[in-house]
Amino acid sequence: MLFECGKDINCRRLLCRMSYGPATFDTPEIRLEDIICEIIDNSIAAKATHIHVQIGNDTHLEDDEPSLNFDVFDNGTKVIDTAWNQDDIEKAFEIEYDPNNPPIRAEGETGKFHVGMKIATLSKFDTVSMITLQGEDDFLQQHGVYPSIERISEDSNNRYGLVNNPSSEPPLTVDSEKIVSLLREKNMSTWVGGRTPRVSLLFGNKNNDREYKANYLKHLRTYFGIIYQLYLEDKDFKLTLGLWDSKSISPIDPFWENFTTENLREHALTLGTDDKKIVNNLSRFGTLAQNEENFLIEGNTMSVQGFIVPQGDGKKNTSKKAMKTQFPRLKINKSDTPAFLGGESDAGSSSLKSSNTGGFYIYRGKRCINFGGKPENNHGFYTLKNPITSSWATRLRVRVKYTEELDSKMVLHPNKHSFRHISKDIWDEIKKKMSTAIGGEDFRARPYNVSRPFCTWSGASQFSKMLAKEGKKVMWAHGDCVKCTLLIHEANDYCELDTCEKCGELAKINHCDRSECRTECIHCSEIGEHPSNECPDVEWDDDDGDDDGEEPGGDGGEEPGGDGGEEPGGDGEEIPEAEYFEEDGIIYATLPVDSKESCIEKLQDILKDLEISSSDLE
Ligand SMILES: [Zn+2]
Ligand SMILES: [Zn+2]
Ligand SMILES: [Zn+2]
Repeated sequence: MLFECGKDINCRRLLCRMSYGPATFDTPEIRLEDIICEIIDNSIAAKATHIHVQIGNDTHLEDDEPSLNFDVFDNGTKVIDTAWNQDDIEKAFEIEYDPNNPPIRAEGETGKFHVGMKIATLSKFDTVSMITLQGEDDFLQQHGVYPSIERISEDSNNRYGLVNNPSSEPPLTVDSEKIVSLLREKNMSTWVGGRTPRVSLLFGNKNNDREYKANYLKHLRTYFGIIYQLYLEDKDFKLTLGLWDSKSISPIDPFWENFTTENLREHALTLGTDDKKIVNNLSRFGTLAQNEENFLIEGNTMSVQGFIVPQGDGKKNTSKKAMKTQFPRLKINKSDTPAFLGGESDAGSSSLKSSNTGGFYIYRGKRCINFGGKPENNHGFYTLKNPITSSWATRLRVRVKYTEELDSKMVLHPNKHSFRHISKDIWDEIKKKMSTAIGGEDFRARPYNVSRPFCTWSGASQFSKMLAKEGKKVMWAHGDCVKCTLLIHEANDYCELDTCEKCGELAKINHCDRSECRTECIHCSEIGEHPSNECPDVEWDDDDGDDDGEEPGGDGGEEPGGDGGEEPGGDGEEIPEAEYFEEDGIIYATLPVDSKESCIEKLQDILKDLEISSSDLE
């Protein structure tokens, strides 16, 4: 590279400055919400207590299609009260290194977390701008422009980092005076904006970016609520979106931490008889959580804590729906952080889709740096097996916390969209914790099984011994109840208004459940075998035995498990597909009994691999 100096980033000699062409900015995996978060991070670093985000209307550079842009305002420098000078704002627009080709060890580089403002923004927009107030009536501004091939061939000084770019001359799309007066009016100090999108910002079935706007704003509210949860729980920190006088975005808890079995049972103690009964029942379907466990890495504390959140998406007949019915605001006490129910549909972004919200949630200090599914991080599960064929596993969410001292071991891509490397000693500690039996009181509905770990780190399927499985089956077969007030029953349990299919008595009398009738025959004393009025030891009149006796399940056609019981596939749970892989000359196969077709297919593949013809099997 012609201009590389690499030693001194402040070096101003022309031939010594780093400069960048379009390839540096073409980072398609960065999403619009990632860009805005980069800017918010800078505001937080500047000690802002109020950050305001706006999504505005814009048109696409190439084809003039309706699209969007963004503004981020903050009161940062106002709070620390040290106004910037021209040098500072120029420095903020410098790029120290190409994020697509970062130095191996980026330890201790202050610029590391500021790469995002320029590169992330220019990955989607034609310009990135910053205006910051200085003193009573002055301001500073700086603007970067995407160094397209056309611009560079016009003048090579249009490369990013050379004399024309960035500059203090605003693009036509930025009215600096107007922004300055808005900053003063709203008591803010700094503005950063991206203008003129050069690529599509949002994706889905709609015609253009702008058609997503209303849903995207809702999506952002939830997304920011998760990413900045720990900041937003602080009442002195305000993040607003859309209208200037709107309420601060609420923090959102992706782990349903307040909905653990233990918390719900404790809460039940404070309630009157009816609610107590409901909440005690709900507690069996609550979040399963490990204790947060700290460990030391080179003298720095990290922690890991696994959660299995309640089942379902809140709409279908699932645990989440029952929780929401009883706790409509998704919190138990008024001051709680509400739980994350699910993303907005048709929002143009898939970052909150259920398949993208499982796995590891990694916090650097208070900021949730990274969560959920992307191809680079194995759909949020990193070194664990890809759980995509067993979507029930995505209900596992693991919170990992570290601090900046460990940046060299938790190597983040400079644009924060993924971790490039997490060191082995850190994984070893996480594995140890995740592979330990959860322990604690066993009061939960199946398939929660506290004698099992969340997952293991070896074998064909690391989820095969996960506590969400019973035997070979995934057992999330809960069903809502419209007969009684309890909202939900486990598939194996009768409602207290149900009659037992074996004995014909009200199930609650002898505590019968669907797998075991506990009623004793009054004639022969056998337990759970037949209704007393059909006892084979008694000679019954002919009339009686005819049709009635034949069909214990006949009235109402209530097949066993009929209320949501028998279909793990029915509530967003997929039956896992058969899979196999070869390791050290041995083939390991997972053949789910519920998925015959995929088993046959995979067995055929295996035979082919082994060069065995099916006639050899005869
Ligand atoms: Zn019921
Ligand atoms: Zn019974
Ligand atoms: Zn009998």
